Amino acid sequence: MRAWEKNIRKVVPYTPGEQPNKDRMIKLNTNENPYPPAPGVQKALQAMDIDRLRLYPDPAASDLVEAIAQELGVKPEQVFAGVGSDDVLAMCFMTFFNSGKPILFPDITYSFYDVWADVFRIPYVTVPLDEHFDIQPQGYTVENGGIVFPNPNAPTGVECPQSTIETILKNNPDVIVIVDEAYVDFGAVSALPLLEKYENLVVVQTFSKSRSMAGMRIGYAVASPDLIRYLNDVKYSFNSYTMDQTAIVTGVAAVRDREYFEKTIQKIVATRERTKLRLKELGFSFRDSRSNFLFVTHESCPARELFEALRRQDIYVRYFAKPRIDNYLRITIGTDRQMDIFLEFLDTYLSERG
Ligand code: PMP
Repeated sequence: MRAWEKNIRKVVPYTPGEQPNKDRMIKLNTNENPYPPAPGVQKALQAMDIDRLRLYPDPAASDLVEAIAQELGVKPEQVFAGVGSDDVLAMCFMTFFNSGKPILFPDITYSFYDVWADVFRIPYVTVPLDEHFDIQPQGYTVENGGIVFPNPNAPTGVECPQSTIETILKNNPDVIVIVDEAYVDFGAVSALPLLEKYENLVVVQTFSKSRSMAGMRIGYAVASPDLIRYLNDVKYSFNSYTMDQTAIVTGVAAVRDREYFEKTIQKIVATRERTKLRLKELGFSFRDSRSNFLFVTHESCPARELFEALRRQDIYVRYFAKPRIDNYLRITIGTDRQMDIFLEFLDTYLSERG
């Protein structure tokens, strides 16, 4: 080993879902929205003055922050915008989890949390979900350096009741609790109203799912003005210009079109409910999902086999070879047509398999 190698920060990186690019593929593996962004986004892009790109963007992304604050009914000082919620969550880990005590998150959850903990040298302990994949609040009563969990959880899609979130907040007044609401818009209840009662709460949301803007990379945290100030201090110690001009302009346009946002969500929820019925008939079981994906297991066919069979047809879903969930598939809700093709394939495959 060369002498300098011992001083290199070595990490096992997060593995994102694959991004194949085939003409006729059906891509249900990374929880993207199957519908385009709001029409105003295209208009904003077309109207963009290219000369503006000569200049640095507004480091505070004020237009976007104000538009988000207005939409959520909070003060702009309560909003921190970043390059997707991954960037925002990474900043939160760096800013809030410095006690040296282990932070807590569920054993089955977004697989970026342990990666950030490792890269920032934050100790962590995972708290098992119960056998139905529900968060157990009593697991979050041990001494800790902070808490983070998604609601709905990923990859399970299971919603955590507000009462459980409140219990966790009440039991942990001395640390920051982050609720990652990447999928909350698809029918779950947001923890945003709890911000008035709990100054240690941080709610993180994204434009990647419900606003069809995964490619633009916009996410945000909502918290007390004090916590947002601390986040900004860390961001400005890192990179002043995280949000580029295009993201700011198109983000504002996306937030302003509430009607399109609601219509798109309704379509996805309707497709999800229809897909659930059909999957049940085909022998799958799953917890109810309040997200834009379903996390399913089949009564006789192993998940890995199905994953590979689907893949051969250029139908991509997500499979995790991990303890407790290695017989499950996570299926993003696509358009009605995509789901029909997917379900038809499953029907044929499972009946031919016998
Ligand atoms: N949180 C959860 C639970 C997620 O599943 C994702 C999507 N991979 C993210 C955060 C990050 O999404 P983005 O960075 O696109 O906002």
